[in-house]
Amino acid sequence: MADQYDVVVLGAGPGGYVAAIRAAQLGLRTAVVERQYMGGVCLNIGCIPTKALLKNAEVAHTLQHRAKEFGFSFDNLKLDYPAAFKRSRQVSDRLVKGISFLMKKNKIDVYDGTGTLTGPNTMAVKLNDGKEATLDAKNIIIATGARPRPFPGVEFDEKKVISYIPAILAENPPKSVVIIGGGAIGVEFAYVWVNYGVDVTILEMMPHLLPNEEPEVSETLEKAYKKLGVKFQTNAKVTGIEKTDGGVRVRSRAGNRWRPSSAWWPSTSCPTPRASGWKRPACS
Ligand SMILES: Cc1cc2nc3c(=O)[nH]c(=O)nc-3n(C[C@H](O)[C@H](O)[C@H](O)COP(=O)(O)OP(=O)(O)OC[C@H]3O[C@@H](n4cnc5c(N)ncnc54)[C@H](O)[C@@H]3O)c2cc1C
Repeated sequence: MADQYDVVVLGAGPGGYVAAIRAAQLGLRTAVVERQYMGGVCLNIGCIPTKALLKNAEVAHTLQHRAKEFGFSFDNLKLDYPAAFKRSRQVSDRLVKGISFLMKKNKIDVYDGTGTLTGPNTMAVKLNDGKEATLDAKNIIIATGARPRPFPGVEFDEKKVISYIPAILAENPPKSVVIIGGGAIGVEFAYVWVNYGVDVTILEMMPHLLPNEEPEVSETLEKAYKKLGVKFQTNAKVTGIEKTDGGVRVRSRAGNRWRPSSAWWPSTSCPTPRASGWKRPACS
């Protein structure tokens, strides 16, 4: 016998959990199906841990470059990235627990597992404990988010060519990195890594870093990043990434070459229907 709901939400990211809370507040019997990350990418491996690492990087920057101005003096300042990483996981875990609490408070049933649409009003759930559930719903909300999009022709090996996920979940930063794309995620991680001593280069194919922002914002950031020691090239479309013994070789259309220990492609633009029972949309 299937469990009956007014609303079933597939995916508990910011899109899904907020929709579920609102539905429950409106008096609808609501369930959420989430296979891995209560709170989705944002709370677990996106916005929140990144902001925690940025805070660490800001403190590291102040202590390294402006300590005297702020009234600090010390011998042998030691930067501990694993400790920064640990803090970012604690911040993330705390907020994830908060979402689970909100589910309980709003009497939303949570199914820990992978949902597949089996009809317009039915969902099969393969629960993470090995059991199965069938849900009937008057309404189904699909909020399955996005997954990393591979660089054309190069698979992520998550060691030399990495997506955003291992970058956030790494206890240690790379030795040197070329970040492909100077959007928000790319410039945030450049700031984190450069303040922990990583040799960082950003390659952006548009004329400015943060190409979707106002030019004044991009220019101000570019000036600040030059001072920080972040190397970057704009109008630099990357045309190839090859793995080598020591790392990677990155080529741009203008014929320039870089040889960092890793290349980072922080793109998240592939929709994640996967097991949702819908035909996977093209991702290019
Ligand atoms: C490094 C990084 C930094 C970011 N920083 C910011 C920021 O500062 N500000 C900002 O606004 N945005 C930021 N974002 C973007 C933000 O994380 C996303 O916009 C947001 O998470 C999208 O929410 P969503 O609910 O649509 O999807 P997601 O958060 O991706 O959630 C989808 C959920 O669905 C689940 N799921 C998928 N398929 C199934 C299935 N078949 N069965 C069960 N569960 C399933 C997944 O496990 C996942 O938990 C950042 C992203 C990254 C990667």
